[in-house]
Amino acid sequence: MYCKNCGAHVDDDVRFCPKCGNRLKGYAQPPAQSQSGENQTNTYAIVGLILAFFIPIVGFILSIVGLSKAKELGGSGSGLATAGIIVSLIDVVAVILIVVVSIGLIAL
Ligand SMILES: [Zn+2]
Repeated sequence: MYCKNCGAHVDDDVRFCPKCGNRLKGYAQPPAQSQSGENQTNTYAIVGLILAFFIPIVGFILSIVGLSKAKELGGSGSGLATAGIIVSLIDVVAVILIVVVSIGLIAL
């Protein structure tokens, strides 16, 4: 192929142009995409964990989706997804306890 910066002919497997030092786009991009499974961000796990603090039900669902996505992504975000499930479960238990205690206090 040819360098887009200076037009010099360069080998296809060369990362930088030997003449001007320009990074050769054709080489720089494919390796990054071929390993996408490891580097991809697990958005569901992150959003699930954040929402687990505010909206436990939604956070719980997103965390479960995030956990199944983590398996597809080679483990990326599985810790976050697990944390999201735990946090949302704790939230739900806390809400139930508050409701139970409130009812108990009203009953007294
Ligand atoms: Zn060049």
